[in-house]
Amino acid sequence: MRLLLILALLFSLLTPAVAARHKHVHKVKTVCTLFPTAGSLARQGAEAERLGLKRIQDDRQLHQMTADGLLVILPSGRAQVTSIAPHYRFLRPWTVATLTELAENYYFDFKMTLFVSSAVRPMTYQRRLARWNHAAAAPDKSVHPVGIAFDLPKNRLTKQQRVWLQWKLWYWTQTGRVIVEEERYCFHVVPIKQDSCYDYESWRDIHLTD
Ligand SMILES: [Zn+2]
Repeated sequence: MRLLLILALLFSLLTPAVAARHKHVHKVKTVCTLFPTAGSLARQGAEAERLGLKRIQDDRQLHQMTADGLLVILPSGRAQVTSIAPHYRFLRPWTVATLTELAENYYFDFKMTLFVSSAVRPMTYQRRLARWNHAAAAPDKSVHPVGIAFDLPKNRLTKQQRVWLQWKLWYWTQTGRVIVEEERYCFHVVPIKQDSCYDYESWRDIHLTD
């Protein structure tokens, strides 16, 4: 038992040192052991591929897709989206549904809106971002250009709120609802589209049209 405790203590002391040494390598950096980063980017890419979604190239294509209803506007009631430029406040519909639920749960417990710092980012934008922000994934790897990821900044959270988000997102990770990366400055969240029998649009197409 004592040996186990010593090993656990050693591990907890060593982890930050190892993380610090690998700081410059985005892919292997794990900020929190609840969300291991190894393989995470590949899982996010696999989700986009499973749904047959392509990366949005530029603002013009994004505008067309929002006009067609393929991406919908972020909720502004329980979520705080003002730090995102208005034309980038969009995501795929099921992603918005998950964000809305999370923001409502958060509001219920804290009586505060949930800050969202990033949503869809067309390739042109992601390329610009990756040039100066080394934490940003390469444009052809990131799923922000697909419109299935959003970021929750950590700088406005109290410790209690951060822990609340960690455990909520961890629970949703374990139940197959989201893929999460905890980065130094934010939680990067990719909701997983649930089985089509829960998807109203597919249900409607099957049952209400002839
Ligand atoms: Zn992100």
